[in-house]
Amino acid sequence: MAEQELDTGGFDFSEVEKRLGVTRRTFLKYCAGVAASLGLSTSSAVAMAKAIAAKPQMRPPVIWLHGQECTGPTESLLRSEQPSLEHLLLDMISLDYHQTLDTGAGHKVEELKKKSMKENHGKYLLVVEGAIPVKDDGVYCKIAGETMLHITKEAAEGAAAIVAFGSCASWGGVQSASPNPTGAKGTQAVLPGKPVVNIPGCPPNPANFLGTVLYFVTFGKLPPLDQQNRPKWAYGRLIHENCYRRPHFDAGRFATEFGDEGHKLGYCLYKLGCKGPETYNNCPSLEFNNVGGGVWPIGVGHPCFGCSEEGIGFNKPMFALANVETHTPPNSFPTIEDRQQDTGISPTAAALGGAAAGAAIGASLMAAKKVGNTPESDSGSDG
Ligand code: SF4
Repeated sequence: MAEQELDTGGFDFSEVEKRLGVTRRTFLKYCAGVAASLGLSTSSAVAMAKAIAAKPQMRPPVIWLHGQECTGPTESLLRSEQPSLEHLLLDMISLDYHQTLDTGAGHKVEELKKKSMKENHGKYLLVVEGAIPVKDDGVYCKIAGETMLHITKEAAEGAAAIVAFGSCASWGGVQSASPNPTGAKGTQAVLPGKPVVNIPGCPPNPANFLGTVLYFVTFGKLPPLDQQNRPKWAYGRLIHENCYRRPHFDAGRFATEFGDEGHKLGYCLYKLGCKGPETYNNCPSLEFNNVGGGVWPIGVGHPCFGCSEEGIGFNKPMFALANVETHTPPNSFPTIEDRQQDTGISPTAAALGGAAAGAAIGASLMAAKKVGNTPESDSGSDG
């Protein structure tokens, strides 16, 4: 999406350019890309850009907890590329407490956390990373002498919104796999009655986290959620729906062993246990690391194991076949005339409309993916 398409009303972004170390053009393209991937309009992109550019005191305080986990979500966030997601994120929020990133340690940091929670009661964003063990009163995960169970409940009391980042925080993840010796649970399960936004994934895509936080910062509310409290814009479609190996699935071309001819030719991984047909996530659209070139499990030849789907990832055996929710095309199709009678829509008009919508979505996703790769010197032509 080109910069000149965004009418910013002459807003001065020079201060945010300095803060983030990116050009105005790159910054606006980035916001346009994020808004497009959230399914929002260009005016929302402008609103996001202005929210990011807001004065530091307007940034929401964030308390970030770690339970049972490998720190994968934070690692994923920190390894994102230009314009650095973590740079943008850390700039637009006030990260008052983060057990991995805090340079301080010990009692002083814990005191600062409690101080921030007291001063910002009802205003801070609580991010939970990792599962929460509840067996034996939660004794299997303690931080600064207190159980993660207690810490989470205490921090949730005054939170304006709660985000469970990663599969462990969303529904227990690998820690909750049978026999679940510590009684590991997700955030929502230990906070009944509190609304929790789940951003599952192992690791979750940092863009999904950033988009959710950007939405919250810009509009003061959470984005629309699905039945499992996941942002619909990120988890609204099955991986199988957008997978570029799908034509092979529909044509019956499968890899049946790692390294066989079908695997080398990039055929569908369904028979190797791919859980894409029963896993909701936007991995095929966003991929990881902003480097392009298919950096995501299926893109590098590994079946999706359903990491973001409760009851699938870490539970269903790796080689078990997925339930296919979306059907393969029928053997025969109705004629064009039949379709016209059924729908009352001219096939030509429908085709043109579909193509235009497809092109727009494609362009938006490309914008969302490409902004991270845009060289700062890219100031000449339309993006
Ligand atoms: S089964 Fe997996 S690899 Fe095959 S098309 Fe579906 S998501 Fe892609």
